Order: sequence, then structure tokens, then C-alpha cells
Amino acid sequence: MPNDLSHNWTPKRNPTTTEVAMPSWPIAIGRGLRMRCPACGQSPIFQGYLKVNPECAICAAPLGRVPSDDAPPYITLLLSLHVIAIILVLADRHGQMSAVTAAAIFVPLIIILELLLLRPVKGMVIAVLLKVDMLRKKQPAQPGNG
Ligand SMILES: [Zn+2]
Repeated sequence: MPNDLSHNWTPKRNPTTTEVAMPSWPIAIGRGLRMRCPACGQSPIFQGYLKVNPECAICAAPLGRVPSDDAPPYITLLLSLHVIAIILVLADRHGQMSAVTAAAIFVPLIIILELLLLRPVKGMVIAVLLKVDMLRKKQPAQPGNG
């Protein structure tokens, strides 16, 4: 029996080729943290607080097809709650702070830190995913939606 493998999946011949020309890892991540297009660094990633531009206005990088999903909030929580835990331990070394005082200080601090970190972390995640070419499939053009 002949072994026909012509229909089987074959790996990419050059796995380093990405859809968009990307700079090195430190440059791409730095641009993402500064909320600029990771590919060119020229245009902003976001068009609102967290709404991602469909594509870069300068280099046409498909920013809107990067599936960052829940990773930015998870990473933001991981970072900010570690920072808050250290601050809380240092501020209340003797265990004298009441729960109401701690809540009055740290709940707003957590909220502010989350809101400050979320955009840069999302930019970094988009940079990483764009660098490894992890993109959603292109949506076929909708006829009649001119
Ligand atoms: Zn760009």
C-alpha cells in the first residue's frame, strides 16, 4: 500500500518569517510598553483606553488581529498585587494598622496601579504576540458592506 503523505500538514520552511517585519525583542517590547506600534514605533497601538487600532497607520501591522485577550489583566494583577503586598508589609510591620485604614489606603492604590499598568502591559503583550506571529485569521471581506 503506497504511503501518500501529500495531504499531511508540513511545517513552515522558515519559522522566523513573520507577517510583519519586526525589530529585535527588546525594541519590540519597549515600543509595546510605550504603547506604540511594536513593528515601526511610529503610531499608537490604542485608539481609546484599551481599544486597539485595527492596523498601524504607518506600517499596516495588523494590531487588531493580535489575540491578547485576558493576558494583560492577568499580568497586570500579578505585578501590581506583588507591589501592593510588599508596600503593605513594609507599611504595617508591627501589625497596628486597622483593616479600615488599610482598605482606605490600599484599595484606591490598587485601582490606580491597575489602571496605570494595564495599557503598557497590553502593549507589551501585543508586541510579544506580534513578534511570534500569533495572529487571528484574516476575516474575509463582507460583500455589500461597502
Ligand atoms: Zn507600525
